[in-house]
Amino acid sequence: MHLVDKLEKNGILEKNEFIELLACEDAETIRYLKERAVKVRKEKYGEDVYIRGLIEISNFCKNDCFYCGIRKSNEKCDRYRLNKDEILHCCRIGYPLGFRTFVLQGGEDNHYSDNVLCDIIKTIKTEFPDCAVTLSLGERTKESYQKLFDAGADRYLLRHETANEKHYSKLHPQKMSYKNRFECLENLKSIGFQTGCGLMVGSPYQTIENIAEDLIYIAEFKPHMVGVGPFIPHSDTPFRNESAGSVELTCRILSIIRLMLPNVLLPSTTALGSLEEGGREKGILCGANVVMPNLSPENVRDKYALYNNKLSSGAEAAESLELLKKSINNIGYKIVTSRGDVKI
Ligand code: SAH
Repeated sequence: MHLVDKLEKNGILEKNEFIELLACEDAETIRYLKERAVKVRKEKYGEDVYIRGLIEISNFCKNDCFYCGIRKSNEKCDRYRLNKDEILHCCRIGYPLGFRTFVLQGGEDNHYSDNVLCDIIKTIKTEFPDCAVTLSLGERTKESYQKLFDAGADRYLLRHETANEKHYSKLHPQKMSYKNRFECLENLKSIGFQTGCGLMVGSPYQTIENIAEDLIYIAEFKPHMVGVGPFIPHSDTPFRNESAGSVELTCRILSIIRLMLPNVLLPSTTALGSLEEGGREKGILCGANVVMPNLSPENVRDKYALYNNKLSSGAEAAESLELLKKSINNIGYKIVTSRGDVKI
């Protein structure tokens, strides 16, 4: 059987088969993979593209991930954090634009204790009862995740980054634990969050075999969301001289994930749009069904620099939603105003 058909039928492949598909240079196979991914996506979600208002609440971080521009050791990073009023203000701008999910993302900033976050979550959910709140705030204890869930948070994004422990240790300082990251993901899912994992494509030292391991992890974990974007170097990190990941490979991985998990919420990420003009649209055309425009206050957007040349203006800016709507319409899809929960 054709590998693509086997993937669609079984939702998983053997590791060597994943490697074969990831390394495949046959244009017809790749075209077919994309065609099947789009077919499956349309069966589940039609032409709908869900939007999320991304609010980058803090660039303080106690971690020191080698790839990330807001890592603790980057002394050039101009630090900021948003308070409750500033975050609510972003939601008040986003709601009338049509956003029904707010994503609070940030570095691991101890300022945001459970009490501080629960208060913010409850206030958003009270003022916007028809909206979902997604958190992307890194590793916390199970008790903490439970409190955030009980306060009303609906979803949590925590990219696993890489499913290979050796590779993990090349991307993170020793005191960050591979084991803990995966435990966090298990905890989030068992608490009841719609849970997202994910990876960077082309991160330093990553092999095709590592990506196959990521895909096997994703197939087995069965997350509700998967964030996949190309690695892009940041000039004030140890990986400043590394090269960026590939748009094509990222798109191929999006198609594979769509076939593995037909219902998955799959963003076409900012990194994809940042690396190449039209990258965001390419992701949608390969099976992605979510975009996350930037709803952070304009004066902090440049400061949340995970990598160089990160897009936050034009169609990437929440206030320019009309631009985004047009570019999505132009490729035959449409932005919808809804919470955009995962379809079971
Ligand atoms: N502190 C949170 C949020 C991290 S930022 C957490 O730990 O989950 C969100 C994602 O951006 C990260 O998970 C990582 O995969 C991605 N990212 C960080 N630096 C990047 C870079 N240089 N290029 C591409 N993506 C990057």
